[in-house]
Amino acid sequence: MRAAVLTGSGGFENIQISDVPDAPAPRAGEVRVAIRAAALNHLDLFVAEGLPGAGREFPHIVGADGAGVVETVGPGVTSVQPGDRVLINPGISDYSCEFCRAGEHSLCINYRLLGEHLPGTMAELVTVPAQNVVRGPNLSPALTWAEAAAFSLVTLTAWRMLVTRAQLKPGETALIWGIGGGVSLTAMRIAKLVGAHVIVTSSDDAKLAAAKQLGADVTLNHRTQKVATEVRALTNKRGVDVVVENVGAATWDDSLRCLRRGGRLVTCGATSGPQVSLDLRRLFWHHWSLLGSTMGNAAEYAEVVRRLGQGELRPVVDHVFPMDRVREAYERLAKGQQLGKVVVEVSS
Ligand SMILES: [Zn+2]
Repeated sequence: MRAAVLTGSGGFENIQISDVPDAPAPRAGEVRVAIRAAALNHLDLFVAEGLPGAGREFPHIVGADGAGVVETVGPGVTSVQPGDRVLINPGISDYSCEFCRAGEHSLCINYRLLGEHLPGTMAELVTVPAQNVVRGPNLSPALTWAEAAAFSLVTLTAWRMLVTRAQLKPGETALIWGIGGGVSLTAMRIAKLVGAHVIVTSSDDAKLAAAKQLGADVTLNHRTQKVATEVRALTNKRGVDVVVENVGAATWDDSLRCLRRGGRLVTCGATSGPQVSLDLRRLFWHHWSLLGSTMGNAAEYAEVVRRLGQGELRPVVDHVFPMDRVREAYERLAKGQQLGKVVVEVSS
């Protein structure tokens, strides 16, 4: 089968299109999906650079997010059948450990992601547990393959961050950094669905204008404005209820300066670096909650798919590249040029 593979670590320059053995025939409880489109996430850049713990065997098929048509089902699979158009939840659990049994699949002790620890979605075929695919909802206008591919990772991640972890409430205010990113943009839309007030940042005025169109209440340019000063002024020195972080080192101090007493900071990433400092006296004195979050569980995934079926949280697709231009797709993400999801068309 045709696939985008990493031939070594060190960057996305090492990705090429090549012929690789087909994804394995599905075993009991598994399905094999003929992929139509795959979407990029920041994770894919980290994997290309060489993430600790990521697969070290090359060639490695890249891509976490994808959508396509069920090609074959393994024994015992009744939830989907060949020909079904499906979205793929890229977080693969063992569905048997203590955390899985408690319904917390993204806490699984054997949690693995497509494209990171397992062969990815940028291939004509991928084999996954049947629990990881769901039929795409019928929408009008119909969900495109690009939208279907772009949906799962960021929507699941942002939903768990805001709804489950930070428990954002109607009327509260959230600060969301870097609105061009897929998780940030989705977090903004979830915050608006919840009925919260949203302040977003970007270094790009065009992205801020687009974010405003998509529902942002206040936009700040973090290159030309002091975010913490502005946020404290906007909130009468109180600070925001929730800060949504995925930048890390570059924004951490300002994130804490923006947080109200008793506020919640939720983070799912560290794109600018993972090491930050924390004055414990400020943490306990201000009763802050610092919350980590990764991906989400099966119930959360079912909920975001249900919301999609209601026409909510339909992905914002930035650009679709054909698979033979996959490196351009990575480059667009690496340069932070996108607003919304960068998608690769795998087959038509
Ligand atoms: Zn588990």
